[in-house]
Amino acid sequence: MDFDYSDAEKDVKSTAREFAATKVRPLAREIDEQNRFPRDLVTEMGRLGFFGLHMPEEHGGTAMGYKAYVLAIEEICGASMTVGAIIAINALAEESLLRFGTDAQKQRYLPSLVAGESLGAFAFTEGLTGSDPRAITTTATPDGDSYVISGEKTFASLAPSASVAVIFAKDDTGKVSAFLVDPKSKGFVIEKELEMLGFRGEDVCPLMLDHVRVPRANLLGQPGQGYNVLLTAINVGQLGIAAESVGVASAALKMSLDYARNRTVRERPMTDLPTIQSLLGEMSARTEAARWLTYRAADLKDKGRYSGKDAATAKLFASQVAHDVVDMAMQIHGSYGYTKELDLERLYRDAKSAQIAEAVSEVQRIIIGSSLARE
Ligand SMILES: Cc1cc2nc3c(=O)[nH]c(=O)nc-3n(C[C@H](O)[C@H](O)[C@H](O)COP(=O)(O)OP(=O)(O)OC[C@H]3O[C@@H](n4cnc5c(N)ncnc54)[C@H](O)[C@@H]3O)c2cc1C
Repeated sequence: MDFDYSDAEKDVKSTAREFAATKVRPLAREIDEQNRFPRDLVTEMGRLGFFGLHMPEEHGGTAMGYKAYVLAIEEICGASMTVGAIIAINALAEESLLRFGTDAQKQRYLPSLVAGESLGAFAFTEGLTGSDPRAITTTATPDGDSYVISGEKTFASLAPSASVAVIFAKDDTGKVSAFLVDPKSKGFVIEKELEMLGFRGEDVCPLMLDHVRVPRANLLGQPGQGYNVLLTAINVGQLGIAAESVGVASAALKMSLDYARNRTVRERPMTDLPTIQSLLGEMSARTEAARWLTYRAADLKDKGRYSGKDAATAKLFASQVAHDVVDMAMQIHGSYGYTKELDLERLYRDAKSAQIAEAVSEVQRIIIGSSLARE
């Protein structure tokens, strides 16, 4: 395995870092405080090619691969997890279409998703289930050339800005199928965005689906193949969440180092204290481990050798690291870290979402454990 960045990957990293520093960081606090979706930054990310790094050229991407995808997300999430995560959430619809879409579906939806001119939402969670897709109660009833979808979804990120939503529903066979649904369809109601603890500005919304008529041509994959669509897409989303976690952990480490260098304790820089050095050492080692585990998973995906176990391992570990590292950063900052004056409290709130979204850590452990048992 090659541990170096290619020249192209270095370019992606430095472009994303520059974008994060100049465009994202100045707006990060406002996006969080106002729970405001950063539409202007989405346009800019599209222009910079961040939505198409892992997408083939025939669909408007640059085919640089999933390593480039995680590098961009990591850098942007160092400034705002909300902004960087938009790439990973949009990738759920992109990946679903790429792996399961017909040529007509790809031609219709992928170019604008890849360019960032439109966004995709991905809705599987319902009020009574997030972790068990078999318990989905939304139904898709065949009716002539259409399916009629009825039910409810919740926590659908990006929904108000999406031009297409991948909706999971049980068809007449009782199996879950995936559908490409136009959010402007009659009966498709996007409710007011939820007030989340962190990850604010991502427009996470409940959806009501009241007899939404969807052409049969919008079935994604085969009837009853929805579970495969879900897992395939989520494995790429989880890679994104691992990268988001590395970005947040790195930002917390950097803030802590800056703070400890500039604060004195008993007339000495705080960095002279063995307790602070120990915390910084632990934070650094864990962040590096999460980073390289995430890059390895992305590398395996690029080489076509990526499994659900690799996705679960990267997400489980990196999200735990983000949570722990931000907690240690808060300890280093003392009471100041606990105030709204510093950005650390936002990182603290944002980091927690990584242990919940797109499958909770408990489920990730079971995926890894059961996969080991089968090997
Ligand atoms: C910021 C954010 C953005 C999100 N965006 C989206 C989105 O765009 N689209 C979408 O569809 N959803 C989205 N979600 C929803 C998210 O994916 C689900 O909330 C998540 O999968 C967990 O489902 P749940 O909340 O129903 O928890 P539950 O399934 O009710 O789990 C709650 C707890 O029960 C335990 N548990 C559950 N199942 C098991 C099990 N099998 N084994 C062991 N323990 C278990 C665990 O302790 C778990 O933490 C988002 C969530 C967040 C926080």
